[in-house]
Amino acid sequence: MKIVFLGPPGAGKGTQAVRVCTHMGVPQISTGVILRRAMQEGTETGAKAKAFVDAGQLVPDELVIAIVAERLQESDCANGCILDGFPRTVAQAEALEKFASLDAVVNIAVADEELVARLSGRRVCPSCGGTYHIALDDTADCKACGTALVQRDDDKPETVLNRLSVYHGQTKPLIDFYGARGLLKTIDGSQTPDACFADIIRALEADG
Ligand code: ADP
Ligand code: ADP
Ligand code: ZN
Repeated sequence: MKIVFLGPPGAGKGTQAVRVCTHMGVPQISTGVILRRAMQEGTETGAKAKAFVDAGQLVPDELVIAIVAERLQESDCANGCILDGFPRTVAQAEALEKFASLDAVVNIAVADEELVARLSGRRVCPSCGGTYHIALDDTADCKACGTALVQRDDDKPETVLNRLSVYHGQTKPLIDFYGARGLLKTIDGSQTPDACFADIIRALEADG
């Protein structure tokens, strides 16, 4: 199964993608993770992306399209994958249609006020990428690897509001795009992580 996880920043795409990938035995392909790694390593891709990511803007379509097209050719994607955070524009979705056929698009819906709270309380592990929230997890260190958790630069208040407006302008149109193709499954993302996970599995198993 090739599945897209769609939703505003902070909706819980990454949290749910990790769980659903484990459940289904397929890899998670997160363009945000790939871009942050490239920025950390100082690769050419990372250098091109940095100013956009830091400002809370989307990086250019060509750059992320090339990343995903290449990644989908790797052998671990043969039985499917979850695309987390890609596509984010109609141009990306149109490009994706040319090199992959999707089975479902899970749209995780959360109201803006809740998103601000989720993004500002998010803490991440800089070594393994684990994601936590100050209201959910009472820990200063990663439970998986012990590294001290940090706040992402783009989770600071100024950038958070930018990212939400970018979502409304550029990414939200994908709800209609995939709705028209009969692929959309909308989940109430304001529930607990366990309840969201159960709804996603139910939606994906409902009609394969
Ligand atoms: P996204 O990948 O969509 O940006 P994340 O999965 O990183 O979202 O989640 C954003 C923040 O909200 C994280 O701090 C995460 O721990 C927290 N979070 C995720 N799912 C929920 C939920 N269902 N309820 C409350 N907080 C959540
Ligand atoms: P979030 O978890 O908050 O939704 P991501 O980790 O997915 O954020 O993305 C972080 C940043 O990386 C975005 O704000 C954007 O700058 C860049 N990015 C990630 N995916 C894409 C994409 N598909 N198209 C353009 N930019 C992207
Ligand atoms: Zn860790």
